[in-house]
Amino acid sequence: MSLIYDLHSHSNISDGLLSPAELVAHAAQHGVNVLALTDHDDLSGLALAQEAATLHGIQLINGVEISVTWKKRTLHIVGLNIDPEFLALKTALAQVRIARDLRAQQMGEALAKVGILNAYAGAKLLAKQSIMTRVHFARFLVANGYAKDTKAVFKKYLVRGKPGFAEQQWMDLAQAVDLITASGGMAVIAHPGRYDLGSVNMLELLHEFRSYGGAAIEVVTSSHTPPQYQQFAKLAHQFGLKSSIGSDYHGQGISFMEMGRLADLPSNCVPVWQDWPQHGLVNNGLANISALS
Ligand code: AMP
Ligand code: MN
Ligand code: MN
Ligand code: MN
Repeated sequence: MSLIYDLHSHSNISDGLLSPAELVAHAAQHGVNVLALTDHDDLSGLALAQEAATLHGIQLINGVEISVTWKKRTLHIVGLNIDPEFLALKTALAQVRIARDLRAQQMGEALAKVGILNAYAGAKLLAKQSIMTRVHFARFLVANGYAKDTKAVFKKYLVRGKPGFAEQQWMDLAQAVDLITASGGMAVIAHPGRYDLGSVNMLELLHEFRSYGGAAIEVVTSSHTPPQYQQFAKLAHQFGLKSSIGSDYHGQGISFMEMGRLADLPSNCVPVWQDWPQHGLVNNGLANISALS
């Protein structure tokens, strides 16, 4: 039996709805055998997720999703099999979280100028201990009747040119790839189909990413269409990059897709897990045993 991989997901340590343990349980219930928890700019859910993964007989890959500024655009780089104790990575992400909080304060001030008061406090309350993201502002604004749903609220308030948007300089691409790689992980370009780069910039990005030691791109992800699976499989092949697969699950109602429903990688792809140790097979055995008991 082949394993079901989902190498991109979020808990409430960043902008997901489920706790790390709930997320792992959810993945196991939906047939996932190998799950990467890839919270935005934060590693603090990984230990809890690891405990839950042992309990549910699935394999947990230590991951992260790092925000990067490249040519004035925000890109996301996923790190897989990173070392959560790697000091340089931990320190850099701690700085990103401070910057996120300052940006959130700016977003609150910008929203106050259009008459929406207390947005920072409201978003902070929803974020609890987690990092501050635009999703927390989205939830606050929807809960207070400023838009009907997450999609509408982003469009109206939270994207560039709108009242609640604050410009942010994220990490450099080279630094993000370096930190991931130096910690023992593999760097993966997340959801490349979402960046609207145009083909020239996309080729330049892949070239640059490869030159820094980037390892893979997400070919199958919930925001890609089947023609995009083929398009990015071809680009991966052209650049000698491996291919990854991930739902980018954030929780019911705010995700494109439920877990465990992703298509397989196109057959010409080299999977990002090609050289990973086969723990998954052992865990899969455990999962089968617990399913019988
Ligand atoms: P941030 O990193 O704080 O800028 O927040 C980005 C997060 O917002 C992404 O990781 C997505 O989870 C979410 N997001 C971005 N754009 C949209 C959108 N148009 N609709 C819903 N969620 C979005
Ligand atoms: Mn997110
Ligand atoms: Mn992303
Ligand atoms: Mn994500």
